[in-house]
Amino acid sequence: MRLIFLEETEKAGAPYVGAGFVGLLHAGPTIAAEGTAEQRARWLPPILRGDEVWCQGFSEPDAGSDLAALRTRARRDGDDYVVSGSKIWTSHAEVADWCELLVRTDPEAPKHRGISWLAMPMDAPGITVRPLKTLAGSAEFAEMFLDEVRVPVANRVGAENDGWRVTMVTLSFERGTAFVGEVVACRRVLRELAVEARKNGRWDDPALRRRLGG
Ligand SMILES: Cc1cc2nc3c(=O)[nH]c(=O)nc-3n(C[C@H](O)[C@H](O)[C@H](O)COP(=O)(O)OP(=O)(O)OC[C@H]3O[C@@H](n4cnc5c(N)ncnc54)[C@H](O)[C@@H]3O)c2cc1C
Repeated sequence: MRLIFLEETEKAGAPYVGAGFVGLLHAGPTIAAEGTAEQRARWLPPILRGDEVWCQGFSEPDAGSDLAALRTRARRDGDDYVVSGSKIWTSHAEVADWCELLVRTDPEAPKHRGISWLAMPMDAPGITVRPLKTLAGSAEFAEMFLDEVRVPVANRVGAENDGWRVTMVTLSFERGTAFVGEVVACRRVLRELAVEARKNGRWDDPALRRRLGG
């Protein structure tokens, strides 16, 4: 149903989800699949209404492609985790209300086994967001520094140290429905290009046809 919805809205030229990307296409589906009934009731309706923006706190300066090398540490203190570390490339962090955050809860375990998936409120004390400017001049990315940030244990999605499995659920949505809009848009642009090429009488140009095909 989600796939059909995304295809149809893209075909109709609906606006891009923008800062709603992580909530609608990443964290939201993960909470729907892995969260408790309370977590789903708390977080999903404001995402669908567009009331709360989420960002993604996965990448770190030394944990990009090798995401499981992440070092942001969360230690238990009563009903909270106390989180310290840093994240990078956090899109739309400056406007986010929540962050889907990967933390290391067991530094002794093999690297894929000691990770947990938390929902961090972005107004918690100890969070510093520093925007990163792209070459084009926009600042949609940010660095995020976490200094003893308290996140309730109740905000953990999935079991403690089972965060890598939950992350694979999140990334399955990224590889699944998250970019369907772009794929549909690319196909539309390609079709429009082909129409233009025909109109301009260049359709018989084998070099152009090869480029459009590629
Ligand atoms: C538009 C955009 C938005 C993003 N938004 C977010 C976000 O909101 N939150 C977030 O957490 N992250 C975000 N990211 C970050 C993205 O997930 C990381 O860029 C990604 O994990 C790659 O990490 P890196 O940039 O550190 O590159 P690296 O891991 O350093 O890789 C650099 C290059 O080396 C290659 N390479 C790496 N390891 C190997 C290897 N073992 N063998 C051979 N080649 C290798 C890679 O293929 C790549 O070409 C975003 C990225 C983009 C482009």
